[in-house]
Amino acid sequence: MFMRIHGVDVPSSSDKWRDVLNPATGEVIDTIPEGTADDVKAAVDSAESVFLEWSEKTMRERGLILFRAATIVREEHKRLARLLTMEQGKPLREATDEVRGFCNILEFYAGLSSQPAGDAVRLGGQGDCMVVNEPLGVCGAIIPWNMPVIIMGWKTAPALLAGNTMVMKPSSTAPLTVLSISKILGDAGIPPGVLNIVTGSGSTAGEAIVTHPSVQKVSFTGSCATGCRIRELAGSHNKDLVLELGGSDPMIVMNDADMDNAVEGAVRGRFYNAGQTCTAVKRLFVHQDIAESFIRRLTSRVEALHVKNGLDSLAEMGPLNNRQQYDTLSEIMKSVKENREGTILTGGSPMQGESYDNGYFFHPTLVKDVADDSPLVTGEIFGPVLPIIVVPDLGTAISKANQSPYGLGASVWTRDLATVKRVFREVHAGIIWVNRHVTVPPEIPFGGTKESGVGRENGYQALQGYTRSKTLFLGW
Ligand code: NAP
Repeated sequence: MFMRIHGVDVPSSSDKWRDVLNPATGEVIDTIPEGTADDVKAAVDSAESVFLEWSEKTMRERGLILFRAATIVREEHKRLARLLTMEQGKPLREATDEVRGFCNILEFYAGLSSQPAGDAVRLGGQGDCMVVNEPLGVCGAIIPWNMPVIIMGWKTAPALLAGNTMVMKPSSTAPLTVLSISKILGDAGIPPGVLNIVTGSGSTAGEAIVTHPSVQKVSFTGSCATGCRIRELAGSHNKDLVLELGGSDPMIVMNDADMDNAVEGAVRGRFYNAGQTCTAVKRLFVHQDIAESFIRRLTSRVEALHVKNGLDSLAEMGPLNNRQQYDTLSEIMKSVKENREGTILTGGSPMQGESYDNGYFFHPTLVKDVADDSPLVTGEIFGPVLPIIVVPDLGTAISKANQSPYGLGASVWTRDLATVKRVFREVHAGIIWVNRHVTVPPEIPFGGTKESGVGRENGYQALQGYTRSKTLFLGW
């Protein structure tokens, strides 16, 4: 597949290509151009050249185009979901939800297009002011491989609705569905140049986006390490930044929780997308009164999960997305075993056997009695491994939950309002779920605190984030 610059398929100026693999089989499913700084420059030039025309359309006109795009993507969701499963690995059901979720995002922002884009302020005898929310100009977006389609929606929909143009870089291991959707957006009426997609490595194409002087804002989703690098690069150019980074979400299960609901919540919360979700449940704290029965039920549920090629209709969990993930997780689990950092209840290693040998399949894993300094709880485990920590009371759960450097999401499973109140007030996170985890509909602002990032995506807040106010002061 080619890059998309000014509405046209283009190769890289370097004429180099990179393979995109199916993580379930190891087969090459397509190739993408290895984009260069020159390609980024061409994309930014294109985005700059159409900014005025796009920004002078009414919000309603732009909203109608987003709405039309959502309709076409919905019509093509089966093809797109299949492509997403093939490049990313997730089960077809999850890929379908992701493509539909993308449409929901477009429709949500299209629905905001009748909102007032400014304000009026009366200053008595001094005069009156008109405050206009202007688009920023060319925005840069860099996205990861774990939820590429949803994250594409989080960034494009508010930015484009507000009147900005964009240059986006998808991840090199899951760029195909993003490219395919970008063509559909063009077919739906987004003019050439408004959304440009440059493929290529982060260190070349990604950094070229961050440092290009015409890029006004960079919205990045990915790891904390890359986020730090981008903050450094963007800081010296004074750019507006949204950084959606890693997480190590705690799930706190209290002794009054609905046990069935909490077990299902832990399974979905951790093993959805093979554990490769920023807001996955990454540490489970369970109250000692119910720990034994909860862990027994969770273990038997996890052992029954069907781990298969995502295209198989029985698949409940697919492979990890790439070799690096697979090797990192294998190393971590080897060290957990060697250093006795916890008791492995199930899983703990890569899967072997004929149907797994060429893919990056890892056993769904539960680990109990985890040491406080184990990387399973101090870092972010981006895969299907769930550390379980038994706690005597809520206070201990909260204090351990807050020991993490991350602060993305957290959940508490309880029927008690006082417990909810305490968790909401005391746990460091951008979102606290009660009796659920992971769900992030487009209506609510989303983002983290501490090392999980800065800024918010989603909701009306993200639309505002793609504008800056400009005031006309009328001193009559
Ligand atoms: P990553 O390695 O940081 O890569 C993310 C994107 O950044 C990719 O497109 C990558 O390009 C690019 N990149 C790498 N180095 C760069 C640089 N120096 N300058 C500019 N761009 C650069 O992250 P990942 O492994 O793909 O994603 C997993 C991480 O994302 C996890 O930590 C997860 O928690 C986090 N995440 C956070 C959220 C959230 O909303 N908070 C959502 C989803 C995921 P290439 O890989 O193509 O080289």
